[in-house]
Amino acid sequence: MAYKIAVFDAKPYDRVTFDRVNEKYGFELTYHKEHLDINNVVLANGADAVCIFVNAVVDSDVVAKLKSYGINLIALRCAGFNNVDILAAEKHGVKVVRVPDYSPHAIAEHTLALMLCLNRKVHRAFLRTRDGNFSLVGFEGFDMYGKTVGVIGTGKIGKVAIGLFKGLGMNVLAYDLYPDNAFAEAEGIKYVTLDELYANSNIITLHCPLTKETEYLICDESIKKMKDGVMIVNTGRGKLIHTRHLIDGLLSRKIGYAGLDVYEEEGAYFYEDHSDAVMTDDVLARLLSFNNVIVTSHQAFFTQEAMENIANTTMNSISDFFAGKELKNQVVYKA
Ligand code: NAD
Repeated sequence: MAYKIAVFDAKPYDRVTFDRVNEKYGFELTYHKEHLDINNVVLANGADAVCIFVNAVVDSDVVAKLKSYGINLIALRCAGFNNVDILAAEKHGVKVVRVPDYSPHAIAEHTLALMLCLNRKVHRAFLRTRDGNFSLVGFEGFDMYGKTVGVIGTGKIGKVAIGLFKGLGMNVLAYDLYPDNAFAEAEGIKYVTLDELYANSNIITLHCPLTKETEYLICDESIKKMKDGVMIVNTGRGKLIHTRHLIDGLLSRKIGYAGLDVYEEEGAYFYEDHSDAVMTDDVLARLLSFNNVIVTSHQAFFTQEAMENIANTTMNSISDFFAGKELKNQVVYKA
Protein backbone atom coordinates (compact mmCIF):
# COMPACT_ATOMS: atom_id res chain seq x y z
CA MET A 1 0.00 0.00 0.00
CA ALA A 2 1.38 3.38 -1.01
CA TYR A 3 1.75 6.03 1.65
CA LYS A 4 -0.47 9.05 1.00
CA ILE A 5 1.11 12.49 0.99
CA ALA A 6 -0.98 15.67 0.95
CA VAL A 7 1.11 18.26 -0.87
CA PHE A 8 -0.05 21.81 -0.09
CA ASP A 9 0.67 25.03 -1.96
CA ALA A 10 1.27 22.91 -5.06
CA LYS A 11 1.87 24.86 -8.25
CA PRO A 12 2.16 23.35 -11.74
CA TYR A 13 5.98 23.52 -11.52
CA ASP A 14 5.96 21.66 -8.16
CA ARG A 15 3.81 18.89 -9.62
CA VAL A 16 6.12 18.36 -12.60
CA THR A 17 9.20 17.88 -10.42
CA PHE A 18 7.47 15.95 -7.63
CA ASP A 19 5.72 13.59 -10.05
CA ARG A 20 9.01 12.89 -11.80
CA VAL A 21 10.98 12.28 -8.58
CA ASN A 22 8.09 10.25 -7.11
CA GLU A 23 8.56 7.62 -9.84
CA LYS A 24 11.40 6.32 -7.64
CA TYR A 25 9.27 6.30 -4.46
CA GLY A 26 5.69 5.47 -5.53
CA PHE A 27 3.89 7.60 -2.92
CA GLU A 28 0.27 8.53 -3.55
CA LEU A 29 0.50 12.30 -3.93
CA THR A 30 -2.56 14.52 -3.57
CA TYR A 31 -1.97 18.10 -4.57
CA HIS A 32 -3.74 21.05 -2.95
CA LYS A 33 -3.47 24.57 -4.30
CA GLU A 34 -3.83 26.36 -0.99
CA HIS A 35 -1.18 26.72 1.70
CA LEU A 36 -1.97 24.69 4.78
CA ASP A 37 -3.66 26.55 7.63
CA ILE A 38 -6.45 26.00 10.14
CA ASN A 39 -9.15 26.71 7.53
CA ASN A 40 -8.15 23.92 5.18
CA VAL A 41 -6.31 21.44 7.41
CA VAL A 42 -9.25 19.05 6.91
CA LEU A 43 -7.89 18.44 3.40
CA ALA A 44 -5.05 16.50 5.06
CA ASN A 45 -7.49 14.01 6.62
CA GLY A 46 -6.73 10.56 5.21
CA ALA A 47 -3.11 11.37 4.37
CA ASP A 48 -0.10 9.79 6.10
CA ALA A 49 2.06 12.92 5.87
CA VAL A 50 1.82 16.54 4.73
CA CYS A 51 4.26 18.39 2.55
CA ILE A 52 4.15 22.18 2.97
CA PHE A 53 5.92 25.34 1.81
CA VAL A 54 6.98 28.74 3.12
CA ASN A 55 3.58 30.33 3.68
CA ALA A 56 1.81 27.50 5.48
CA VAL A 57 0.61 28.49 8.96
CA VAL A 58 1.21 25.46 11.14
CA ASP A 59 0.43 26.65 14.64
CA SER A 60 -0.44 24.43 17.60
CA ASP A 61 -4.09 24.10 16.49
CA VAL A 62 -3.05 22.86 13.04
CA VAL A 63 -0.55 20.45 14.56
CA ALA A 64 -3.27 19.08 16.87
CA LYS A 65 -5.62 18.58 13.91
CA LEU A 66 -2.94 16.79 11.91
CA LYS A 67 -2.23 14.53 14.85
CA SER A 68 -5.94 13.76 15.22
CA TYR A 69 -5.91 12.56 11.58
CA GLY A 70 -3.05 10.21 12.45
CA ILE A 71 -0.41 12.32 10.67
CA ASN A 72 3.00 12.15 12.31
CA LEU A 73 5.17 13.88 9.71
CA ILE A 74 5.30 17.45 8.42
CA ALA A 75 7.73 17.73 5.51
CA LEU A 76 8.71 21.33 4.76
CA ARG A 77 10.00 21.61 1.21
CA CYS A 78 12.00 24.71 2.12
CA ALA A 79 14.85 25.66 4.45
CA GLY A 80 13.11 28.09 6.85
CA PHE A 81 10.77 26.59 9.47
CA ASN A 82 9.56 29.73 11.27
CA ASN A 83 5.98 28.98 10.12
CA VAL A 84 5.73 25.72 12.07
CA ASP A 85 5.24 25.52 15.84
CA ILE A 86 8.08 23.06 16.42
CA LEU A 87 7.43 22.82 20.16
CA ALA A 88 3.77 21.94 19.57
CA ALA A 89 4.83 19.34 16.99
CA GLU A 90 7.22 17.75 19.49
CA LYS A 91 4.56 17.73 22.20
CA HIS A 92 2.24 15.84 19.84
CA GLY A 93 5.00 13.48 18.67
CA VAL A 94 4.81 14.88 15.13
CA LYS A 95 8.16 15.02 13.37
CA VAL A 96 9.15 17.94 11.17
CA VAL A 97 11.71 17.74 8.39
CA ARG A 98 12.98 20.41 6.04
CA VAL A 99 15.37 20.88 3.13
CA PRO A 100 18.28 22.72 4.68
CA ASP A 101 20.40 23.33 1.62
CA TYR A 102 18.88 22.69 -1.77
CA SER A 103 20.90 25.40 -3.47
CA PRO A 104 22.45 28.30 -1.59
CA HIS A 105 23.61 29.44 -5.05
CA ALA A 106 20.03 30.02 -6.18
CA ILE A 107 19.30 32.45 -3.36
CA ALA A 108 22.70 34.15 -3.37
CA GLU A 109 22.51 34.71 -7.13
CA HIS A 110 18.99 36.18 -6.88
CA THR A 111 20.27 38.50 -4.15
CA LEU A 112 22.98 39.74 -6.49
CA ALA A 113 20.44 40.07 -9.32
CA LEU A 114 18.32 42.38 -7.13
CA MET A 115 21.36 44.47 -6.18
CA LEU A 116 22.59 44.94 -9.74
CA CYS A 117 19.10 45.60 -11.08
CA LEU A 118 18.40 48.27 -8.44
CA ASN A 119 21.80 49.89 -8.83
CA ARG A 120 21.72 50.06 -12.64
CA LYS A 121 17.93 50.56 -12.88
CA VAL A 122 17.52 47.65 -15.29
CA HIS A 123 13.84 47.29 -14.31
CA ARG A 124 13.19 50.88 -15.36
CA ALA A 125 15.36 50.73 -18.48
CA PHE A 126 13.40 47.67 -19.66
CA LEU A 127 10.14 49.61 -19.48
CA ARG A 128 11.61 52.85 -20.83
CA THR A 129 13.14 51.41 -24.01
CA ARG A 130 9.95 49.44 -24.75
CA ASP A 131 8.15 52.78 -24.80
CA GLY A 132 10.65 54.25 -27.24
CA ASN A 133 12.30 56.30 -24.50
CA PHE A 134 16.08 56.02 -24.75
CA SER A 135 16.91 58.71 -22.20
CA LEU A 136 19.38 57.92 -19.40
CA VAL A 137 18.09 60.59 -17.02
CA GLY A 138 17.81 59.16 -13.52
CA PHE A 139 19.73 56.01 -14.38
CA GLU A 140 23.18 56.82 -13.01
CA GLY A 141 24.43 53.91 -10.92
CA PHE A 142 27.59 53.22 -8.95
CA ASP A 143 30.48 50.79 -9.35
CA MET A 144 29.96 47.82 -7.07
CA TYR A 145 33.75 47.49 -7.07
CA GLY A 146 35.20 49.00 -3.91
CA LYS A 147 31.82 49.45 -2.18
CA THR A 148 31.07 47.85 1.17
CA VAL A 149 28.40 45.21 1.56
CA GLY A 150 27.19 44.16 5.01
CA VAL A 151 26.08 40.53 5.22
CA ILE A 152 23.87 39.61 8.18
CA GLY A 153 23.95 35.84 8.58
CA THR A 154 26.93 33.95 7.18
CA GLY A 155 25.50 30.47 6.89
CA LYS A 156 25.23 28.55 3.65
CA ILE A 157 23.58 31.34 1.62
CA GLY A 158 25.52 34.21 3.20
CA LYS A 159 28.81 32.46 2.45
CA VAL A 160 27.96 31.89 -1.23
CA ALA A 161 26.79 35.50 -1.48
CA ILE A 162 30.07 36.70 0.02
CA GLY A 163 31.94 34.78 -2.70
CA LEU A 164 29.91 36.63 -5.35
CA PHE A 165 30.50 40.02 -3.73
CA LYS A 166 34.21 39.37 -3.50
CA GLY A 167 34.17 38.49 -7.19
CA LEU A 168 32.96 42.04 -7.83
CA GLY A 169 35.78 43.49 -5.76
CA MET A 170 33.53 44.59 -2.90
CA ASN A 171 34.58 44.94 0.74
CA VAL A 172 32.60 42.59 2.94
CA LEU A 173 31.55 43.23 6.53
CA ALA A 174 29.79 40.35 8.21
CA TYR A 175 27.67 39.81 11.27
CA ASP A 176 26.53 36.46 12.64
CA LEU A 177 25.43 35.29 16.05
CA TYR A 178 27.98 32.50 15.62
CA PRO A 179 30.86 33.93 13.56
CA ASP A 180 32.84 31.49 11.45
CA ASN A 181 36.30 32.89 12.08
CA ALA A 182 38.08 30.28 9.97
CA PHE A 183 35.87 31.26 7.02
CA ALA A 184 36.53 34.96 7.64
CA GLU A 185 40.26 34.40 7.72
CA ALA A 186 40.25 32.23 4.59
CA GLU A 187 38.10 34.74 2.67
CA GLY A 188 39.74 37.86 4.03
CA ILE A 189 36.48 39.30 5.35
CA LYS A 190 35.74 40.91 8.68
CA TYR A 191 33.15 40.16 11.36
CA VAL A 192 31.93 43.35 13.02
CA THR A 193 29.16 44.35 15.39
CA LEU A 194 25.74 45.09 13.93
CA ASP A 195 26.23 48.80 14.67
CA GLU A 196 29.54 48.83 12.77
CA LEU A 197 27.93 46.97 9.88
CA TYR A 198 25.04 49.47 9.76
CA ALA A 199 27.37 52.48 9.91
CA ASN A 200 29.76 51.36 7.17
CA SER A 201 27.78 49.42 4.58
CA ASN A 202 26.59 50.82 1.24
CA ILE A 203 24.48 47.70 0.82
CA ILE A 204 23.00 45.49 3.55
CA THR A 205 21.78 42.00 2.76
CA LEU A 206 19.89 39.67 5.10
CA HIS A 207 20.69 35.95 5.26
CA CYS A 208 19.84 35.07 8.86
CA PRO A 209 16.78 33.03 9.84
CA LEU A 210 13.64 34.63 11.24
CA THR A 211 13.72 34.09 15.00
CA LYS A 212 12.52 35.99 18.07
CA GLU A 213 15.86 37.87 18.03
CA THR A 214 15.82 38.76 14.32
CA GLU A 215 12.15 39.75 14.00
CA TYR A 216 12.09 43.39 12.84
CA LEU A 217 15.89 43.59 12.92
CA ILE A 218 15.52 46.28 10.29
CA CYS A 219 13.38 48.95 11.92
CA ASP A 220 13.48 52.69 12.71
CA GLU A 221 16.19 52.16 15.29
CA SER A 222 18.57 50.23 13.03
CA ILE A 223 17.77 52.25 9.90
CA LYS A 224 18.86 55.49 11.60
CA LYS A 225 22.32 53.94 12.18
CA MET A 226 22.80 53.27 8.45
CA LYS A 227 24.50 55.31 5.75
CA ASP A 228 22.33 57.75 3.82
CA GLY A 229 21.14 56.16 0.59
CA VAL A 230 21.80 52.60 1.79
CA MET A 231 20.51 49.68 -0.28
CA ILE A 232 18.70 46.98 1.69
CA VAL A 233 18.16 43.55 0.18
CA ASN A 234 16.07 40.88 1.85
CA THR A 235 15.97 37.35 0.47
CA GLY A 236 15.66 35.92 4.01
CA ARG A 237 12.20 36.24 5.53
CA GLY A 238 9.70 39.12 5.39
CA LYS A 239 9.49 39.78 9.12
CA LEU A 240 13.20 40.56 9.33
CA ILE A 241 12.08 44.01 8.17
CA HIS A 242 9.45 46.27 9.73
CA THR A 243 7.90 47.26 6.43
CA ARG A 244 6.29 50.52 7.58
CA HIS A 245 9.64 51.67 8.96
CA LEU A 246 11.28 50.70 5.66
CA ILE A 247 8.70 52.82 3.83
CA ASP A 248 9.43 55.77 6.15
CA GLY A 249 13.13 55.32 5.35
CA LEU A 250 12.40 55.29 1.62
CA LEU A 251 10.24 58.41 1.92
CA SER A 252 12.92 60.32 3.81
CA ARG A 253 15.53 59.07 1.25
CA LYS A 254 17.57 57.56 4.10
CA ILE A 255 17.08 54.30 2.22
CA GLY A 256 18.11 54.63 -1.40
CA TYR A 257 16.94 51.25 -2.65
CA ALA A 258 15.19 48.12 -1.43
CA GLY A 259 15.22 44.68 -3.02
CA LEU A 260 12.63 42.45 -1.43
CA ASP A 261 12.10 38.83 -2.30
CA VAL A 262 10.07 38.39 0.87
CA TYR A 263 7.47 40.52 2.61
CA GLU A 264 6.01 40.16 6.09
CA GLU A 265 2.43 39.78 4.83
CA GLU A 266 3.35 37.88 1.68
CA GLY A 267 1.08 34.93 2.50
CA ALA A 268 -1.99 36.75 1.18
CA TYR A 269 -0.44 37.56 -2.20
CA PHE A 270 2.73 35.73 -3.14
CA TYR A 271 2.63 32.79 -5.54
CA GLU A 272 -0.83 33.73 -6.87
CA ASP A 273 -2.10 35.88 -9.71
CA HIS A 274 -4.04 38.80 -8.19
CA SER A 275 -3.85 40.98 -11.29
CA ASP A 276 -7.65 41.12 -11.69
CA ALA A 277 -8.28 42.11 -8.07
CA VAL A 278 -8.11 45.40 -6.21
CA MET A 279 -5.04 45.42 -3.98
CA THR A 280 -6.24 45.77 -0.39
CA ASP A 281 -2.82 45.65 1.25
CA ASP A 282 -1.91 49.34 1.41
CA VAL A 283 1.60 48.65 2.68
CA LEU A 284 2.40 46.37 -0.25
CA ALA A 285 0.76 48.84 -2.62
CA ARG A 286 2.94 51.65 -1.24
CA LEU A 287 6.07 49.53 -1.60
CA LEU A 288 5.22 48.75 -5.21
CA SER A 289 4.82 52.45 -5.96
CA PHE A 290 8.51 53.25 -5.40
CA ASN A 291 10.70 53.05 -8.50
CA ASN A 292 13.71 52.27 -6.30
CA VAL A 293 12.05 49.19 -4.82
CA ILE A 294 11.91 45.80 -6.49
CA VAL A 295 9.59 43.19 -5.07
CA THR A 296 9.91 39.61 -6.28
CA SER A 297 7.48 36.97 -5.15
CA HIS A 298 9.68 34.81 -2.89
CA GLN A 299 11.35 33.37 -5.98
CA ALA A 300 15.01 33.38 -4.97
CA PHE A 301 14.92 29.58 -4.55
CA PHE A 302 13.39 29.01 -7.96
CA THR A 303 16.00 27.36 -10.17
CA GLN A 304 15.91 23.99 -11.91
CA GLU A 305 18.68 22.69 -9.67
CA ALA A 306 16.97 23.82 -6.47
CA MET A 307 13.60 22.34 -7.49
CA GLU A 308 15.21 18.99 -8.25
CA ASN A 309 17.10 18.97 -4.94
CA ILE A 310 14.00 20.02 -3.00
CA ALA A 311 11.92 17.17 -4.43
CA ASN A 312 14.69 14.60 -3.93
CA THR A 313 15.47 15.58 -0.34
CA THR A 314 11.79 15.83 0.64
CA MET A 315 10.87 12.44 -0.83
CA ASN A 316 13.94 10.89 0.72
CA SER A 317 13.06 12.24 4.17
CA ILE A 318 9.47 11.00 3.83
CA SER A 319 10.72 7.59 2.75
CA ASP A 320 13.18 7.45 5.67
CA PHE A 321 10.39 8.39 8.08
CA PHE A 322 8.14 5.54 6.96
CA ALA A 323 11.11 3.15 7.00
CA GLY A 324 11.77 4.15 10.62
CA LYS A 325 15.22 5.45 9.76
CA GLU A 326 17.01 8.37 11.39
CA LEU A 327 15.87 11.70 9.92
CA LYS A 328 18.95 13.74 9.14
CA ASN A 329 16.91 16.81 8.16
CA GLN A 330 14.68 16.79 11.22
CA VAL A 331 13.96 20.12 12.87
CA VAL A 332 14.19 19.99 16.65
CA TYR A 333 12.94 22.61 19.06
CA LYS A 334 15.53 25.01 20.48
CA ALA A 335 14.42 27.23 23.34
P1 NAD B 1 21.97 28.74 7.56
O1 NAD B 1 21.35 28.09 8.75
O2 NAD B 1 23.02 27.99 6.81
O3 NAD B 1 22.58 30.16 7.96
C1 NAD B 1 21.93 31.07 8.80
C2 NAD B 1 22.99 31.86 9.54
O4 NAD B 1 22.33 32.86 10.31
C3 NAD B 1 23.83 31.01 10.49
O5 NAD B 1 25.19 31.23 10.30
C4 NAD B 1 23.38 31.47 11.88
O6 NAD B 1 24.41 31.42 12.84
C5 NAD B 1 22.98 32.90 11.58
N1 NAD B 1 22.11 33.49 12.60
C6 NAD B 1 21.21 32.87 13.39
N2 NAD B 1 20.63 33.77 14.21
C7 NAD B 1 21.19 34.97 13.93
C8 NAD B 1 21.04 36.26 14.45
N3 NAD B 1 20.18 36.50 15.46
N4 NAD B 1 21.78 37.26 13.93
C9 NAD B 1 22.66 37.01 12.94
N5 NAD B 1 22.88 35.80 12.40
C10 NAD B 1 22.14 34.79 12.90
O7 NAD B 1 20.75 29.12 6.61
P2 NAD B 1 20.79 29.47 5.05
O8 NAD B 1 20.58 28.23 4.25
O9 NAD B 1 21.99 30.32 4.76
O10 NAD B 1 19.44 30.32 4.91
C11 NAD B 1 19.29 31.57 5.58
C12 NAD B 1 17.83 31.98 5.50
O11 NAD B 1 17.48 32.27 4.15
C13 NAD B 1 16.82 30.87 5.90
O12 NAD B 1 16.61 30.85 7.31
C14 NAD B 1 15.57 31.26 5.16
O13 NAD B 1 14.74 32.06 6.00
C15 NAD B 1 16.08 32.12 4.00
N6 NAD B 1 15.83 31.48 2.68
C16 NAD B 1 15.14 32.18 1.73
C17 NAD B 1 14.90 31.62 0.49
C18 NAD B 1 14.16 32.36 -0.61
O14 NAD B 1 13.72 31.73 -1.61
N7 NAD B 1 14.04 33.68 -0.55
C19 NAD B 1 15.32 30.32 0.24
C20 NAD B 1 16.05 29.64 1.21
C21 NAD B 1 16.29 30.23 2.45
